[in-house]
Amino acid sequence: MNPQQVLIGIGSNLDDPKKQVSRAIAVLNTIQETRLLLRSSLYSSSPRGPQDQNNFVNAATLIETYLNPAQLLNSLQTIESDFGRLKKRRWGERIIDLDIVFFGQQEVSLSNPNLTIPHAEALLRDFVMIPCLEICPEWRLPNGKPLRDYTSGCETHNLHQLG
Ligand code: ADP
Ligand code: MG
Repeated sequence: MNPQQVLIGIGSNLDDPKKQVSRAIAVLNTIQETRLLLRSSLYSSSPRGPQDQNNFVNAATLIETYLNPAQLLNSLQTIESDFGRLKKRRWGERIIDLDIVFFGQQEVSLSNPNLTIPHAEALLRDFVMIPCLEICPEWRLPNGKPLRDYTSGCETHNLHQLG
């Protein structure tokens, strides 16, 4: 089987978010049958949902993996729980969030909302789209269209690149 190239969206707004995001990127490279190819800059964004929480630090990485989507989700969820992520309120604060944004050109929909790829709201979120486009400006969606064509439809979250 050929490896797949996968874009991962990363976010954190607790406990030194820059450090958490950088640490998560390093840990992604330790997932079995997976290697890190590219990482974006770090970005800051304002939270969606509850506003009484810190700004987020976001980034995206391109990885190459021999895992299937369900196995990769499992590995990401293990990392999230190793970081001490607790289930709190919807769209609330989190020490780390690791989302599979795109998995090659595949569309994936497991029963119930456990795994949907492309990530259901990726195309709406500037803090996902902009870091992904920074590292993969030529990325195409499963429908064959360039990802960059979708930026005008994004919600804005006061995104800016951190120095
Ligand atoms: P969000 O990332 O949208 O803020 P959560 O991180 O709390 O939300 O994830 C909630 C659920 O989303 C997880 O239990 C996971 O099973 C599911 N999920 C569905 N599609 C994906 C995907 N593409 N990547 C990561 N998680 C996903
Ligand atoms: Mg998530």
